[in-house]
Order: sequence, then C-alpha cells, then structure tokens
Amino acid sequence: MKVTDLKGIGPKTAALFEKLGLFNAEDLLSYYPLHYDFYEEPRAIGAAVAGEKCAVQGVITRTVAVKATGKVTIFTTQIEDPTGKLRLTWFNAPYVQSLLRRGAVFIFRGNVVRRGAELLMEHPEILTLAKYEELSGSLRPIYGLTKGLSNGVVVRAVQQALDLLPRAEEYLPEGLLVDMGRLLREEDALEAIHFPKDEAELLSAQKRLAFDEFFFFVLAMRRLRQMEAAEENAFPMELGWKTEEAIAGLPYHLTNAQLRVWNEIEGDLVGAHPMARLVQGDVGSGKTVISFLAMLLCAENGFQSVLLAPTEVLARQHYEKLCAFCATNAAFAGVRPVLLVGSLRAKERREALSAIAAGEANAIVGTHAVLEETVVYKSLGLVITDEQHRFGVKQRAALAERGTGRPHTLVMSATPIPRTLGIIYFGDLSISVIDELPARRLPIKTAIVDETWREKTEHFIRKELDAGHQAYVICPMIEPAEELAAMDVGTAARRLRKAFPDISVGILHGRMSGSEKEKAMAAFAEGKTKILVSTTVVEVGVDVPNATVILVENAERFGLATLHQLRGRVGRGDAQSYCIFAQGSESKDVEERLSILKKSNDGFVIAEEDFRLRGTGDLLGIRQSGDPRFRAADLGRDRDMLRLAGKIAGRVLAEDPELSMAEHAGIKKRLEAYFAAEERIDSL
Ligand code: ADP
Ligand code: MG
Repeated sequence: MKVTDLKGIGPKTAALFEKLGLFNAEDLLSYYPLHYDFYEEPRAIGAAVAGEKCAVQGVITRTVAVKATGKVTIFTTQIEDPTGKLRLTWFNAPYVQSLLRRGAVFIFRGNVVRRGAELLMEHPEILTLAKYEELSGSLRPIYGLTKGLSNGVVVRAVQQALDLLPRAEEYLPEGLLVDMGRLLREEDALEAIHFPKDEAELLSAQKRLAFDEFFFFVLAMRRLRQMEAAEENAFPMELGWKTEEAIAGLPYHLTNAQLRVWNEIEGDLVGAHPMARLVQGDVGSGKTVISFLAMLLCAENGFQSVLLAPTEVLARQHYEKLCAFCATNAAFAGVRPVLLVGSLRAKERREALSAIAAGEANAIVGTHAVLEETVVYKSLGLVITDEQHRFGVKQRAALAERGTGRPHTLVMSATPIPRTLGIIYFGDLSISVIDELPARRLPIKTAIVDETWREKTEHFIRKELDAGHQAYVICPMIEPAEELAAMDVGTAARRLRKAFPDISVGILHGRMSGSEKEKAMAAFAEGKTKILVSTTVVEVGVDVPNATVILVENAERFGLATLHQLRGRVGRGDAQSYCIFAQGSESKDVEERLSILKKSNDGFVIAEEDFRLRGTGDLLGIRQSGDPRFRAADLGRDRDMLRLAGKIAGRVLAEDPELSMAEHAGIKKRLEAYFAAEERIDSL
C-alpha cells in the first residue's frame, strides 16, 4: 500500500515521507517513535527547574505585553501560585492575547530557561484544567520529522496504517511463546510501541520488538557460521620460521595473551575451514602487531592480505607502521605494503591498483576503498578489519565471489560489549580475547575537573611538555556553535597558543583534507607539534607513545565507550600518563557516569557499568543506534532480550538446524526476508 493511499496524504506529504525512508504504508509500522511525551502531574511553580520541561498551573497576573522586534513579535505574561511567580513568553502567537486574561487559570507546559536571575517558560503549550486531566498520565509518540512535516501528520498516518494493514502472523510457535512467559504477542507490541496505554505496556512492547530484532540477528549469524564452517579453506597456509623470527626481532616481548591469540589465529589459517575470528582486546593491548604477523604469514604463503581501518588517519598510521616493520625487522622482507585510501592522487591510485593486480603488493592497508569492486586482487587470502564493525552478509559473499575463494577474515576490536553478551552478539565469529596489557605499563591516572581547574590543568600540561612529552586536547566540535555551549577545536587551539606561546600546537579534525590530516598527524607523531587539538577522529587506534596527557573538553558530551577509547590514546609507553576529563555540566548523572571511568581502566568493566546505568534510565527514549537492524532494540537496555534470543535461537537450531519442521515455517520465512533485508543494509 502506498502512503498516498492513506487519507490526508497527498504527493507533497509523500515526498516528505520519502525523505525519511518511508515509501509504503507498511514502512510506517516499523517507523518507531523517537521518544514519548509524557503528561505528568503539574508542578508547583517554585519547583520549576531551568533546563527541564514541565507543566505548571497558575493564575495569570498581568495583561499580555506585546513587543515587536523585526520579524518576531514577542508576547509576555506572568503567572503565580502560592510557591512563586513565572514569566511566560511566546513568539508570533497573537492568539494568546485574547486567551490569557488576567485572573484566568491554565496549565502551561514547556521548557524552562534561565534569563539572568529569573526563570522563564518559553512558548509553552496552553491547556485547560479539563484538557490536562484528559491527557494526564498518557504517552504521546514523538516521531523523527523533517522540515515541513508535523508530528500530528505522522501520528495520523501511523494510526491509519495500523488500522488498515493486515498484521504479520505470529512467527513464534505457540509452545515457545508460552515458555517465554510474559512476552507480548507481536501484533500487540506493534500497536503498543506507537500508542502505548501506559509505561508498563510500552516496556513490554519494547521488549517484544527488541526480542524479534535480536532473534533474527542471532539466527542469521548462526546460520552464516554453519554455512561458512562447512566451506573449505581456500587459502591453506603453512607455518614457517618467518613469524617466529619476526616475534624474536620485536623490541619487546609479546604478552602471554598476545601469544595465545596468535596461536589461535595460526590454527585457523592452517585449518580446514576459512577463518572468521574476532580478536577482542582493550585499548593498548597490542592488537596491531598481531594483525601484522597474520599479514606476514599470509605473504610468506604467497597470498595477499588487506588491513581495513575506519578512518584515513588510522589507515595511514598502520601503513607507516607496517613499512617501519619491513625496514627494521628482517623477517618482514617479503612483505610489500601499499596504501589505498580515498584521497590518493589519480596517479598514486593507478600505481597502487596495478601493483595489487599484479600481486607485487601483498599487504594492502586502507579504508573501505580497498573493498570496492574496481580493486582487483591476484590472490586475496586474508581480510582484517581494525576497530570497525563486523562484515555484513553481503560483504562476505562479495569477498568470497570476487577472487579464488572465501578469504579468511579477522576482526580486531576493543568492543565495549561485555563478554557474556559478546558470545551471543558475535555468534558468527570465533572469539579470541587479549586480556592482558603489556607489562611495565603504569595505569593511567584519571581526573575529572570542572571549569575552575583550567589554570591548574594548563599548568599540569606545561609540566608534562617540559619533561619532553606530548598532549592531546579533544573537543566535541570543530567550530563554535551558538546553541551548544561546548568547546571547539578552533577556540581551544587559540587559547592554548596564547597560554603556551613557545609551544607548537597542531589541529586535526574531520573537515580537513586527507593530506592535511596526514600532515597534522605526522607532525604530532614525529614530535614536531607538542599539543594536538582534535575532534574524536583520533578516537580509535591512533598510537603516539610519547603522548602522556589527554584533556577531554566537555566530557559529558561523549559516551563512556568513546571516553575510554580516547583515554587509550595515552599510556602507550613506559611513562606515567594522565587523562583529564573536563566537564561543563553539573548534573549528578554526568558525574556518576564519568566517575565510572575514574574507578576503572578496564574496557569490559566500563561497558558493564555503562550498560547497567543506561539499562535503567532510558525507558521513554528509544536510542538510535544508527544501525537499521536495531530500530527498537538497545544492546544496553535490552540485554535480557539478547540473552533470551540467544537461548531460543540455540534451542530452535539444535532441534531443527535446517528449519524444516512445520512449526518453524514462520521463522524460516522471516529469516529469508531478514537475509534479503540484510543485503540491502550492507549495500547502503
Ligand atoms: P591496540 O590494541 O589498542 O590496537 P596497539 O596495537 O596500537 O594497541 O599497541 C599499543 C602500543 O603498545 C603500541 O605502541 C605497541 O607498539 C605497543 N605494544 C604492543 N605489544 C606490546 C608488548 N607486548 N610489549 C610492549 N609494548 C607493546
Ligand atoms: Mg588498534
């Protein structure tokens, strides 16, 4: 059914829907609300807090004042209750003049802001007591919108779609549904996620839909694993002496955990089936050298390998490092690296491509450009991704089809997913864990400070610089933005240059060109710039062991996982390192969140705590993971559903691996649709 078949939706609105990816009426059903508006009990005026949305009941004590300023006309009045007074303003709302007579009583609902010493409610909704009574306690869906589209239009469209469209049949066999206890039926969950009666119903709906998303995700991963495990190793390798020599030639001893993981990888590469392995290791655990060893082994066996990084900065750094290994470690003599990133000049790119096609280059380092179809490999035997998501179904199939067989895949990640969940979530991969940091590393000292500490912080950075070390300063933004009070790279750099006139300060952010970024990174790595002011582009993987202090501005604006990754940029050498989180907010929640980082340096512990905190708080807001596979599910909040999905998927597949039993027909059909949708996701 087309969206234009719904009442009240013409071609103009349909075009707006299209912008949101909504083409059919069916799409509306899974266009879940971003969050819900909750009409809670009105507060006493004295209890209104700046920065919060609330409802207050009061009597109007002043005639509406009108002030015209250019395009906007501002209407102002004031209300009172026994606990206090509150000023109210509206923009371009002439109707309030006749509505709000002195002495009348209404409920006003809106955002409270501070203006000087006074509190003010901006553009509040105006409701009669009776109307408020009616709405009170109810949840109204708020959808993601685009310019020109109002929430009401989406609400009415979704309502019609729910009324008109036939609901998909429940795919879970009755027996399982019963075993799973209080899970809502799918069709009821779909209704309730849009129009929940109350919080309890919303919660059950979220749980059920999260279960569905996880269930097919897990099933798909396990099927994929079964299929791949049945394939033959198209690039069988033999172990030689070279990797042993390489390890002996390192300037440090590999940790026991690194050695163990390396053994597991070797076992896969010489084994009967293609490798599909995840290496989980906290920041700084030394994953890079493991990937280089795998590339070396691959080259020694006459195959090519690819190392894929999420950013160009990181790809270039890996490339430089690999070249340095080749130059200093004799065992790497047969490894011939080449860099392939988007910003190469045409000639460089041509040369790289022909070296790859001819097999002259056998260790290719790059960004996702390396997987484009225009890149022709001679014998691609191993694909490694660093700090990036897994390969999708389609990507894997494409890799398998393009060359002489399915290459081995290795995923390197400091994934913030707690171990027990990781086993379910990464059901398509074997997992190796590097659970040990190189010896001689001193734990990073972490401090959480506020604005009053700025001088001390600068003093501290100065001391580290004087000792010959370097510093990162991380900002949430590139340029100042009015509406967000947060530090930006430009301002921070200016301020630091003024505070340290004799120190060279470099900057790095995503809007710089590839070669500018490269220059900035290289200058910092070589110690030419002492302070690097950057956005989170340095978040993953960047390795400059001489940097011993990192200052993160407006730390409250980053997630814990990101902060932990950022902190991992220091503490990579022998010297004591420091991490300073500067927070620009006084909220208790922020403090609790940040204090987790102070208590622990262990990524897994932090992930656990982060999940625990988010798990309880986020009922009314559906988090946007950005992954179209998870529209309703949140790994933190719905971890119980991931566990349940893992359990049920295991049970179903154990009983009926091919899903050929009649009672699993529904599951089978949905799984096929899921694989098809997954392909679409991959090719986005
Ligand atoms: P990550 O796991 O975060 O990718 P890296 O591979 O970048 O970590 O390693 C972090 C730093 O530790 C690098 O400077 C690397 O040279 C160094 N390193 C790796 N393994 C060891 C080891 N066994 N002993 C000492 N230093 C090591
Ligand atoms: Mg790394």
